[in-house]
Amino acid sequence: MMPLRRALVGLGCALQLLATQGLAQASAAELGAEAAAIPIIDAHFHVMMWIDAPSLVEHMDRNHISMAGGVGGGSLPTIVALGERFIRPTGMGAWLGLHRKLDAADFENPETPAVRSALAMIEADLRDRGARVIGEIHVNALTTTQEPANRFKTPADSATLKAIFALAGQHGRPLNVHAQWDTDTVQQLERLADSFPSARLVLAHCGSNSTAGDVREMFERHANVCCDLSARGSPPLRGRTVIFSEAGLDPRWQRLIEDYPDRFVVGIDTVHDWQEYDGVVRAIRRGLLAHLSPETARRVASGNAEEWFGLR
Ligand SMILES: [Zn+2]
Repeated sequence: MMPLRRALVGLGCALQLLATQGLAQASAAELGAEAAAIPIIDAHFHVMMWIDAPSLVEHMDRNHISMAGGVGGGSLPTIVALGERFIRPTGMGAWLGLHRKLDAADFENPETPAVRSALAMIEADLRDRGARVIGEIHVNALTTTQEPANRFKTPADSATLKAIFALAGQHGRPLNVHAQWDTDTVQQLERLADSFPSARLVLAHCGSNSTAGDVREMFERHANVCCDLSARGSPPLRGRTVIFSEAGLDPRWQRLIEDYPDRFVVGIDTVHDWQEYDGVVRAIRRGLLAHLSPETARRVASGNAEEWFGLR
């Protein structure tokens, strides 16, 4: 989409939110202007092929972002150059590769030789190669991803995914899944969460098209389910519903985040130029963090990511 058209769509969306929901405005109990410089860990960031390391470091520094990553990316030289500031993930490429090459029955069976070797590779990454998270694992992105190759749906409670979640649990690392809010997918996610209650299951984009009520029900039933809030700011991305914009935060989500301050992290996800990158960070700061209490904002901005990924 052209930048001007994007901006107009974003503005229209923000105004619509403002008109229909009554956005939370910064008050004394909220972080407010201090959100402009609070340190951020970008927990869901794809290092796209166009991104070079010097520019990324410059934009991270300027935006007070200490670390970024947590999901698969394309530009290996940039990732290597980022060094300790990259949150190393594992499993995304292997998962997509298996899905491309296997039929459904083989894909869902952890005893299939190709699946077994992928599981062994993921385990070695977690155990020996500093991987801090498994993700992003696309489970159901039928209508909620920009990437055509990732628009598929597979059961969230398959034996293969349960085996991957068990690896996450055994190594004390989270599993990040892209699962949009279809009724059957949600039921499967609940079974996945229950299959290893001490493992952390992170919903990428907090379910993409979920409501605050949907996520609240999930949180109430499953203490190990959490969310990254990437790609839920304005302008809306393919099929995802907007929670916040530079104008403010949906009050239902504000209440949810304050009620569960240890269940959320932020992320920039996929961007196509630096203008877009800076805009996404601005929306996270002004639209989301500024409207949280200072303690909640600190956790969502960086504290939870430090804990989940073992960065302290
Ligand atoms: Zn992503």
